[in-house]
Amino acid sequence: MKKIVTASLLTFFYLFFSFVATGQKIENVNITPNRVNSPLQQQKPYLFIISIDAFRYDYLDKYAAPFLQKMASAGVRAKSMYPSFPSKTFPNHYTLVTGLLPAHHGLVGNKMLNRITDARYKMSDYEQVHDASWYGGTPIWVLAEQQRMLTANYFWPLTDVKIQGILPSYYFHYTEANTFQKRLDDIVDWMRLPDSTRPHLIMLYFPQVDHAGHRFGPDAPETGAAVTQVDSFLHVMYDAIAATGLPVNFMLMSDHGMKAVDVAHPLQAPEIDGSVGDMVVDGSTVNYYIKDDTKIDSIYTSFLMQNNNGYKIYTKMNIPLKYHYGQVDDWYSRLGDIILLAKTPYFFGKKLSTGEHGFDPYEEPDMRATFIAWGPAIRSGKKINAFKNIEVYPLAAKLLGLQTHAPIDGKGILIKKVLR
Ligand code: AMP
Ligand code: ZN
Ligand code: ZN
Repeated sequence: MKKIVTASLLTFFYLFFSFVATGQKIENVNITPNRVNSPLQQQKPYLFIISIDAFRYDYLDKYAAPFLQKMASAGVRAKSMYPSFPSKTFPNHYTLVTGLLPAHHGLVGNKMLNRITDARYKMSDYEQVHDASWYGGTPIWVLAEQQRMLTANYFWPLTDVKIQGILPSYYFHYTEANTFQKRLDDIVDWMRLPDSTRPHLIMLYFPQVDHAGHRFGPDAPETGAAVTQVDSFLHVMYDAIAATGLPVNFMLMSDHGMKAVDVAHPLQAPEIDGSVGDMVVDGSTVNYYIKDDTKIDSIYTSFLMQNNNGYKIYTKMNIPLKYHYGQVDDWYSRLGDIILLAKTPYFFGKKLSTGEHGFDPYEEPDMRATFIAWGPAIRSGKKINAFKNIEVYPLAAKLLGLQTHAPIDGKGILIKKVLR
């Protein structure tokens, strides 16, 4: 028994300090000037919203993440959480924080075209990503700051964009630098600030499990090691936060799952001529934006004739409603007239990674995400059924006592199930 404990302690310290040792330097926290919590907000509890990218619903047990397993049994654990379609990173991170479906907040993929301005968006394009006109809805950190509650953010996508003219009180520009020790220091510093400037909503994002899942696949030991690393960090972080004695609640989630794909047979989307329209290939989906409406039917028919069964072909008018990815939902004119959806284990692209996501979250269980919550405001020892990720925002707003105004897609069904 003693041996096992010593071995696991050694693994823990090795994993933890290996992050520190390989860490690169990242910038100091950006601070938005003149922000203080209102007296009302100073009375509120604290909420951490943590995302581990691509932490599939079953990883908690598959890779036996000891800290998160313990917190999940102490608090509330969902059997799984349905991502919104497409099960990609940016659309789902923004759904989690707005309670809106991708076509309703405007971020319909990691890549897309704005039909009105012809601008092209992709996650790696700094200029486009920082153009706030792409983003609808009111993200939870904007909602909080509007109500004079301070927020702090460590890499949650889009938190360094001035959405509705508002940045978090404390934030970073995204980097892939290894930051575990600095993160710990910064987070503990935030929690030790005086009441007036201590953030009440703290959001964290971790890309390591997604990286390993893509590179090595969801069943690889490397993916298990990434789960252990993040779990170990969260354990250390939690202990440091608990030592402050503050009433802190935690929601831990992911944006989607991960699936091993057929790397030997990448799908090739039919090409169209630039004079006919534009196409945007985003791995699991391809959107075709046809210039002349009268040509849509004939192009659709020609695609059907050449389909090799690795993908489904729809028009914006006949795509099943469950995807919320067609004409009725396209509030921002970002969807194509013809849409291809890859069927697992196939994926569009020239050179595929071992693991991928983006597939239908209803038909493909491996796309499902994780949700657990614990803390003084959260019920203990409760398992809940799978729910849609549009429900996270109303729960977070309720927990922080924030007023929501604009209508959203989430119905608030988690509030009674999760809160005491
Ligand atoms: P994907 O797997 O294509 O959906 O994208 C997920 C990847 O996006 C993560 O593993 C990160 O490397 C990267 N990522 C996350 N946040 C950002 C950001 N704010 N800017 C650029 N890349 C990001
Ligand atoms: Zn992701
Ligand atoms: Zn990914």
